[in-house]
Amino acid sequence: MAQENRARSGKPLDISQKGACPICTSLKAVQSDYIGSLDRRVAQRLCNFHTWLVAKLADAGAAADVFLSMLERPLEEDSGHKKCDLCAWMHQQEQRKFEELAQKLSQPTHPEWLRQHAELCVPHARKMLGRVPKELQAVITLAVQRQAAELKGRLTTLSRDARTGKTIHPGLLGRAAEYLVAMRGLVVKP
Ligand SMILES: [Zn+2]
Ligand SMILES: [Zn+2]
Repeated sequence: MAQENRARSGKPLDISQKGACPICTSLKAVQSDYIGSLDRRVAQRLCNFHTWLVAKLADAGAAADVFLSMLERPLEEDSGHKKCDLCAWMHQQEQRKFEELAQKLSQPTHPEWLRQHAELCVPHARKMLGRVPKELQAVITLAVQRQAAELKGRLTTLSRDARTGKTIHPGLLGRAAEYLVAMRGLVVKP
């Protein structure tokens, strides 16, 4: 798995894909790669989310070493007050992805893609707004509103159907959650 992840993380940001936020998708791949070949020295303090992700994705030996290091100070600190090493690393990666996307969007044909097809999640769209010129800010806002209108229509149908016991909604609630708050664990604080 680590090898497959390594291959994926090397790819540039893919803005042509549909059905998911390109920043989320790219960050997820980079994160899986990094944790899949985790260096225990760079992960001393972890938040709840990253502790579980290390348990799931890191090599067993590396995960054991990271957890041994955390066990040395079980009561010394509260992860709510200390920064998580992996959150800090992900914050840097997020900045890089924003720069990459801003650069791509500055090319003449890409605002049209953004307007018609982009599925940027709300948190990443909001962060992008401060990084692009005014014309692109308007295009990002329209893209976000387009997705909101589409989700609103589908969720309204689901809400109505659910009252009569019909609750089939392939992927809709997950898609709505991703749009609203980004993929799980991919909103990082500096
Ligand atoms: Zn996103
Ligand atoms: Zn974290």
